[in-house]
Amino acid sequence: MDEITAKQRISELRKLLETYNEQYYMQDNPSVSDYEYDMRMRELETLEQQYPQFAAPDSPTHHVGGGVSRTFDKVQHTVQMMSLQDVFSFAEMDAFLQRCQEAVPQPEFIVEPKIDGLSVSLEYTNGVFTRGSTRGDGFVGEDVTANLRTIANIPRQLHGAPPFLEVRGEVYMPRASFAALVEQQEQNGETPAKNPRNAAAGSLRQKDAAVTAQRSLDIWIFNIQQADGDYPQNHLDSLRYLESLGFPTVIPRSGRCQTAAQVQAEIEKIGAARDGYAYDTDGVVVKVDSFAQREEMGATSKVPKWAAAFKFPPEEKETVLREIQLSVGRTGVITPVAIFDPIQLAGTAVSRATLHNQDFISERDIRLGDTIVVRKAGEIIPEVLRSVKHAEDAAPYQLPECCPVCHTPAVRDPEEAALRCPNPDCPAQLMKRMIHFVSKDAMNIDGLGPQNLAALQNGGLLHSVADLYRLTATQLVELDRVAEKSADNLIRAIDASRANSLDRLIFALGIRGIGSRAAKLLCERFSSMDALLSATAAEIQEIDGFGEVMAESVVSALQEPHMRQLIQHLREAGCNMTYQGAVVEDTRFAGMTFVLTGTLSAMKRSEAKERILRYGGKVSGSVSKKTTYIVAGEAAGSKLDKANELGIPVLSEEEFRQKLQERNETK
Ligand code: NAD
Repeated sequence: MDEITAKQRISELRKLLETYNEQYYMQDNPSVSDYEYDMRMRELETLEQQYPQFAAPDSPTHHVGGGVSRTFDKVQHTVQMMSLQDVFSFAEMDAFLQRCQEAVPQPEFIVEPKIDGLSVSLEYTNGVFTRGSTRGDGFVGEDVTANLRTIANIPRQLHGAPPFLEVRGEVYMPRASFAALVEQQEQNGETPAKNPRNAAAGSLRQKDAAVTAQRSLDIWIFNIQQADGDYPQNHLDSLRYLESLGFPTVIPRSGRCQTAAQVQAEIEKIGAARDGYAYDTDGVVVKVDSFAQREEMGATSKVPKWAAAFKFPPEEKETVLREIQLSVGRTGVITPVAIFDPIQLAGTAVSRATLHNQDFISERDIRLGDTIVVRKAGEIIPEVLRSVKHAEDAAPYQLPECCPVCHTPAVRDPEEAALRCPNPDCPAQLMKRMIHFVSKDAMNIDGLGPQNLAALQNGGLLHSVADLYRLTATQLVELDRVAEKSADNLIRAIDASRANSLDRLIFALGIRGIGSRAAKLLCERFSSMDALLSATAAEIQEIDGFGEVMAESVVSALQEPHMRQLIQHLREAGCNMTYQGAVVEDTRFAGMTFVLTGTLSAMKRSEAKERILRYGGKVSGSVSKKTTYIVAGEAAGSKLDKANELGIPVLSEEEFRQKLQERNETK
């Protein structure tokens, strides 16, 4: 790789990993598997080692990925809460053990399961639980004391504890609680949690501790962070000590390991047993036992040098493909879904996985009855990797030529891999559109889950989303699924949604490529439905963050007679057709005008703009005396020169991000 390409890739990876960190730690909603994340991190580490000239202290390789949400008070950690270095093979584990052996004489190692949850600190003063916090960025975490108090296994009072004690543990959601939560979320028509780790993090980081209380979280304590007074000076004894104080701990039965072979045997033992654990594990942690030796070995800015996490590779298993179901999405895309004999992967039973499209199936020559290999990476989405054996007489699989639900001939856009049902009245599409229309980020109509919607559709009451606004409580009660009181509540919720700001409605219409953020950007530029209906693709493309494809998608969707008719019906039903403005979260930027120039590396320009508006500021395209700040990214040009000429303060991207992160004093 040449230097220019390496520089570009490093910058790309940093941006990508910061985005993944934000999704994982702040939104508790990752978009990629842990395996994918770990591989990207490894790629970045390798490139930074090969090209030290591009090293940067703020790279994700040097800091813990989390942050602090404004929902909680901040807690300054007096002992930094670090991450762990990862190893992905026994060879890498051996290299780690060797580094330890070279650094300190005859180290002994403790091997423990690595529970996949979120790290917390618990503080006890005179034996009383006084404060608990998340790891945050390792230096500053979130005060989640009230939420932690709802976890039954956290002792409120310790007997025989030192005057001050801080311990570290992992809050997790047992698999059984996770399964129950997902079932409940599916019944309520909510998006189900992706995996126990994110469910645990989302449950603990709730504003309302009563919600946390319902989530059956548990905890495992694995470290003494600090204590006044005496405590054992090695890890194994400190775990026994923590247990004697009343903390839930997992004490490795095998005791201390001296050799690489012993460590490997312990890792293999945990690997073989982990499917049977009541909780998810994403690896095994190997730690030097003696605290004095730990002290001697020290740490980097992110991880201690005396511990390493052996990460389990994504599990792969063979099974038999029994059926290919066809699912019709809200834009008509027909997706083949593999249904196979259930297998246990990463602790859960898996029996289905998407096959994406015809190309995916043909490239792998997947046929009905095949023995296939399925992988579940990082406990997120199972994927079919390959077919290893065709069933006798199996023929190559071809997607049908018609929609499986309404039987309209399907079409395939030459530029796309997807097959589509072109019939906007297809009942399957309508159902998916309904589910999207009422969802939280769209019209936010509470209580209308998929089952209720299906009952309404089957009862002949819903032919278009606009029909929702014609429903009466009596009709709902007659459906037999809804009690009278809930019917009244539902009608009230539907009624309230009429007043939603236009951006929600635009998102709810389900235009291809237009998510809730893009819908807001559209509304900031065109503040009414009428203005948007008459906008040209060229005008839409002027919006920061909109390319040609998105602009064309908006124009062509809004020109479709079917969509025009739907909008007209929603208008007649009394739905608000104007934008009610950006939601101003706080007023830190009130009265300020920002100009953005150059390329920002950690966030998109559209995101920077949205954040400024959310905090009450304005964004202008040109520099004048009225400009308060200019935010200059990489390769800033003439606007920066003009700002310097006029003496306008210039913020670097980092300074701008700090302003976004500062706590608002005026609030
Ligand atoms: P980590 O999860 O790999 O390791 C550190 C954590 O392990 C500690 O915070 C600790 O709480 C926990 N832990 C569990 N059992 C332990 C034990 N016995 N001893 C010590 N610690 C134990 O590192 P991290 O910095 O917390 O998170 C990085 C990882 O998170 C990545 O490797 C990836 O797997 C995942 N991640 C995924 C995404 C995504 O988008 N999918 C994004 C960010 C991070």
